Amino acid sequence: MDQTPFDPPAEPLVLTPMMAQYFEIKAVNPGYLLFYRMGDFYELFFEDAEIASAALGIVLTRRGKHLGQDIRMCGVPIHAANDYLNKLIRLGHRVALCEQVEDPAEAKKRGGKSVVKRDVVRLITPGTLTEDDHLQARSSNYLAALAMVRHGDTDFALAWADVSTGETACLDLTAEALQDELARIDPAELLLTEATRTLMRERHLLPPSIVAVTSLVPAEVFDSEAALAQLRAAFPADLYDPTVLTRAARAALGALVAYVRESQKGLAPVALRPPSDAYAAPHMAIDQATRSSLEILVTQRGQSKGSLRDAIDLTVTGPGSRLLATRLAAPLCDAAEINHRLDAVAALVDNGMLAARLRADLKTVPDLARALTRLALDRGGPRDLAAIGTGVAAASALAAHFATMPDVPPILRRIADCLAAAPLDLASELTLAIADEPPLQARDGGFVRKGYDGKLDGERALASETREVVAALQSRLIEETEVRSLKIRHNGVLGYFVEVPAGQGSRLLEEPLRATFIHRQTLANAMRFTTAELADLEGHIARAHEAALDLELKIFASLRYDVLSRTDALRELADALAELDVTAGLAHLAATRNYARPEIDTSLAFDIRAGRHPVVEDMVAAEGHSFVANDADLSGSDAIGGGRLWLVTGPNMGGKSTFLRQNALIAILAQMGSFVPAASAHIGVIDRVFSRVGASDDIAHGRSTFMVEMVETAAILNRATRRSLVILDEIGRGTATFDGLSIAWAAVEALHETTGCRALFATHFHELTSLQKTLTRVCNVTMKVREWEGDVVFLHEVGAGAADRSYGIQVARLAGLPEPVLARARQVLAVLEQRSAGTASSGSNAAVLDDLPLFAHRPPPVKAATDPVAEKLDAVRPDEMTPKQAIELIYELKKIRDAARRS
Ligand code: ATP
Repeated sequence: MDQTPFDPPAEPLVLTPMMAQYFEIKAVNPGYLLFYRMGDFYELFFEDAEIASAALGIVLTRRGKHLGQDIRMCGVPIHAANDYLNKLIRLGHRVALCEQVEDPAEAKKRGGKSVVKRDVVRLITPGTLTEDDHLQARSSNYLAALAMVRHGDTDFALAWADVSTGETACLDLTAEALQDELARIDPAELLLTEATRTLMRERHLLPPSIVAVTSLVPAEVFDSEAALAQLRAAFPADLYDPTVLTRAARAALGALVAYVRESQKGLAPVALRPPSDAYAAPHMAIDQATRSSLEILVTQRGQSKGSLRDAIDLTVTGPGSRLLATRLAAPLCDAAEINHRLDAVAALVDNGMLAARLRADLKTVPDLARALTRLALDRGGPRDLAAIGTGVAAASALAAHFATMPDVPPILRRIADCLAAAPLDLASELTLAIADEPPLQARDGGFVRKGYDGKLDGERALASETREVVAALQSRLIEETEVRSLKIRHNGVLGYFVEVPAGQGSRLLEEPLRATFIHRQTLANAMRFTTAELADLEGHIARAHEAALDLELKIFASLRYDVLSRTDALRELADALAELDVTAGLAHLAATRNYARPEIDTSLAFDIRAGRHPVVEDMVAAEGHSFVANDADLSGSDAIGGGRLWLVTGPNMGGKSTFLRQNALIAILAQMGSFVPAASAHIGVIDRVFSRVGASDDIAHGRSTFMVEMVETAAILNRATRRSLVILDEIGRGTATFDGLSIAWAAVEALHETTGCRALFATHFHELTSLQKTLTRVCNVTMKVREWEGDVVFLHEVGAGAADRSYGIQVARLAGLPEPVLARARQVLAVLEQRSAGTASSGSNAAVLDDLPLFAHRPPPVKAATDPVAEKLDAVRPDEMTPKQAIELIYELKKIRDAARRS
């Protein structure tokens, strides 16, 4: 077998000490690209180098030999490492960051050949990112761990955390709910064992988007007994008791904590918050198919533009936007809780001035949670300290605005109280200490404000005084040498040096100046020297700088400690600020887009007056048209057997899908606590929304279009309850007409008779409309159209009744199908319609159609011969016409066209 570079050498090999160290570190971090620190570079070797050079487009070089082969290598400079890391992580790679953990001088003391000690200080994976450069300000970045415990049936538990903010949660789940939760959380990385992944695959529980982000970990990581110790170490006992968790939940949370701890090299416990129970309460269940068809957070093409979130997100901070997305992904089911949120939005809608002031001030609030996490992980810098200072001060100023508000509803009261309790002493300390526009890294120095620390100011003065001494020395040397253009300069290689023009250099090389000036370098135009006095001064300056930096780092450490000792208060403050941003954003949305407060209770009402589609409304407006608002009343009651089912018929392009979706979106918006795009809305809490709109296939899972349609329809019929809202668009279209019609028919009956849910069912099977006669809660509505000069005009208006036809051929014409095809389609349609009306001669459809002249035999020239305008145009030679002739031609063409219309 060939030996790979990472197999331990079979024979004792003479490795250089550095290579030996490299192999040792590489061996304990399998599956990671090793970024091996060498001076100002991270170097990658062997296969890692090949992968990284291809992925990053950097040069692959060679350095020495190993096992008789060249050692391939590539490197990235430290200062640009973040960009490269970002690229690798986005491409799905995982990186182990290996640093020098001792001063090279220490290594030298151990002997000439000793290598500097190195160790991996951090594992970087898609789910464990913390730097702003790697994260999107307006998106959460979840790491999830999925545990599976089998006793009799299979129990699942899912734990997840956003390592960048510390937000953590954990839930026990059935296989069915698991899929919904995975779709909701949309993790950047999912940890599971090989066995769990196999079972999930067998049961089709892993959507392709999740498969792509799975990280396999050994089964012992999910050991529920070992987990207890992990959890006790991670969360303070007074805040969290891990023994209340089920075995599966313990295993999932334990694995999550262990992975974070491993990736952050032990610093994790301070970075994760005790798991929140916010997710334990029931939420509106929305499965993957529904999320994608309703385009809640992203469109079906994966873009944010065009999604519901994009249309309604008027938050002004990253944390606010993240919270809005979390709420949109998990609307509430508790009417009282929803109404509390609506009360808060309503109060800000009523106090527009206050809302505007809050939004203006919120704009200056930095991302406290992420700054805090970086500081906790010892990865933060002066900018993070400044962010905490600015955020806390802003919070306190925001609290003052509420003083002018007459009646403060409970959620806003809670937020205002939290803001008022912001640790102002900490903010003032940070503002006093940190200079404006500080550097990113503490080690760069220069971030402590002048006047904050007397000793530091002293050291800095010494450094700048020495600079004055340098200036004085320069003047003196000019006098002594009589070289007017002599300069004392500084660079990284020589340090301080004396520079004179090349022509004057010889003077300094000769007696008597030769005794003072020591030659260092000759350039084309200049000569460089040093003197004993200058070298001495240089030492002074460096020492003063070092002393100043040392003091700055001490001040940084002490401020960091102050901040971290207030972690809990700061996290609560960050939550309150995000919630205020969401509430103010929703109030602004309601006020500026004419949204109404929905009435939410526990009835089976669903009565929307003049409802609009939040996204299509914007699109239509951008094109200069106005959106046609429509009512929907699916209200029912237990007394009459459940909610109503509207059968929506109408032409293609008539607006059926828009109408269906807008009602589902209104329900989601209402239950996440937002006003809705309607004149009024009364909704009895909905437990699940199902939406099956349009056809798609799932080749990755080996499912055809029709199969996907049936799988999704089955999920709806099996899972919907009387409290659910079901949106079904054109089921049964992917198979033969009679099969499809029968399935659609039976589905309507089942939804009406068995489920009793509130439902909208759009169909082109006009036969279904006769169900209104037998099913009491079925109601036929249609999208109105008008025919005008052979064209169809869509009114986008929902009215009572059933459509008599689909206008498919007219829509096909609008889409540009060739005229011969359209003419043939009209012929076929006429025959089929006659037959279904019983007026055609007997025989099968196929037999009758056989009697028609075949399309292939008869390319019907529907065009020129019968079109006088076209005939006239054929004769025109535009290049030979004068402008006057052209305009006369236009008048003539119009006349011909009018005459043709009249005849
Ligand atoms: P098909 O049966 O072909 O799927 P459809 O009846 O579902 O068509 P939609 O896709 O809902 O039709 O709507 C077609 C287009 O009509 C939309 O993209 C939008 O531009 C416009 N439209 C739909 N509803 C409205 C409305 N209420 N007001 C204004 N324009 C609308």
